[in-house]
Amino acid sequence: MLELKEIEISEIQSISNTGDNPQVRCQRCNCIEQAKSKDILITESTWLKAATCGGWRHVTTDNATYSMVCSTCIVELYEVQHKSLS
Ligand SMILES: [Zn+2]
Repeated sequence: MLELKEIEISEIQSISNTGDNPQVRCQRCNCIEQAKSKDILITESTWLKAATCGGWRHVTTDNATYSMVCSTCIVELYEVQHKSLS
């Protein structure tokens, strides 16, 4: 089983420090993507949309639940899933 959902905005809020641009952190490989612009204020909801476009998702597998996972890890999770089925 591999279930993908949109990341919850509360997850982005919970790891973003006040004053910093919002960020997402992959719970599988620990990579971080942070909004880079210093001139434009990027809100959590804007960053949520950007991360969703970039393939970030809330992922539930048979063994674990990740509140945010990067697109690279999602591809790997699919491959692991596929191997375990065949
Ligand atoms: Zn990752």
